[in-house]
Amino acid sequence: MSIQISAAFDSGNIRVVAIEGDRVDLEIVQDHQSDFYQWFHFRVAGAAGRTLTLRILNASKSAYPFGWPGYKARWSADRQSWRMTDTDYADGVLTIRHTCQTAITWFAYFAPYSMERHHDLVSRIALAEGVTHRQLGVTLDGQPLDCLTLGEGPKQVWLYARQHPGESMAEWWMEGALEFLTDEDNAVARELRTRATFHCVPNMNPDGSLRGHLRTNAAGVNLNREWHTPTAERSPEVLAVRNAMDETGVDFAMDVHGDEAIPANFLAGFEGIPSWTDELGEKFYSFARRLAAHTPDFQTELGYDKSPPGKANLAMSTNQLAERFGAVSMTLEMPFKDHDANADPEFGWSPIRSKLLAHACLETLAGMIDEL
Ligand SMILES: [Zn+2]
Repeated sequence: MSIQISAAFDSGNIRVVAIEGDRVDLEIVQDHQSDFYQWFHFRVAGAAGRTLTLRILNASKSAYPFGWPGYKARWSADRQSWRMTDTDYADGVLTIRHTCQTAITWFAYFAPYSMERHHDLVSRIALAEGVTHRQLGVTLDGQPLDCLTLGEGPKQVWLYARQHPGESMAEWWMEGALEFLTDEDNAVARELRTRATFHCVPNMNPDGSLRGHLRTNAAGVNLNREWHTPTAERSPEVLAVRNAMDETGVDFAMDVHGDEAIPANFLAGFEGIPSWTDELGEKFYSFARRLAAHTPDFQTELGYDKSPPGKANLAMSTNQLAERFGAVSMTLEMPFKDHDANADPEFGWSPIRSKLLAHACLETLAGMIDEL
């Protein structure tokens, strides 16, 4: 029987170049109207009992080729558990070797978070006591843009994820955050809800998610370069969310992402904004230090370079929100590889660890909510 490969489903992405015996040559498909690509997600049928060599031939031209060394592809037989498998990067080719034990095996850049699961999450959380759901707008492909609001406190907290749709760990994080915040038995969550009002956008980029994009929406636009001047034509997702933020104001904001290269969880702040003050900056640094003290799945040594004074890019949401609202604003980056300081050789960084990191972030926020 010959091997059959398909990516024709929610968040699927792969192109078959050639199949010769147990060797399959593949390419990742670019985001529509964009040069970005790195996200892959496909299934292999007809390979039970065979050891496949899956070669992604165009890996070197992907958005972050330095993300491949040290990276391990994820596979699943049941689409619930996603484990790492033998992967190496050499001569511009990412080679995944895997012995398939079942009729269908799934491969992905990271454990996928489907739009169906998104709708399950939003609908389930919207049923919880004290939660308000709003559809803030629609995307270029006509999908709803969901926002869940809960809590009665004066501090305005915005949590938003997946501007970059291929960073699926961001929505796993959001699932953890929403479950934490709606847990009636959790005293920390109950206390937080009296001190703050939480506005949560679990998926800023449904179109890119469904289309299997890495970084852009249906028009090939990187939403995290649109926050200075979002438009209905290019970036209705950002326009809708930013307008809603203008109505509430923002005291604390977290933009949740995944990083291809750095094998660690880290935060990026808003250094270089025109209105920077050391006092506001220290609140961000304080949050990062407390989070690192709270969980071994966070650290502050590895991360991005800081922008020099006056050089912040105000088209990026974290900078825009700090400048616009004086918010303690930050970008959380989780790894596609692993948090090496606390590595898991079987799963690497994973959905459950993303969810638990959200709990740690909110517990840390609870300890300083009155200082914002
Ligand atoms: Zn990102």
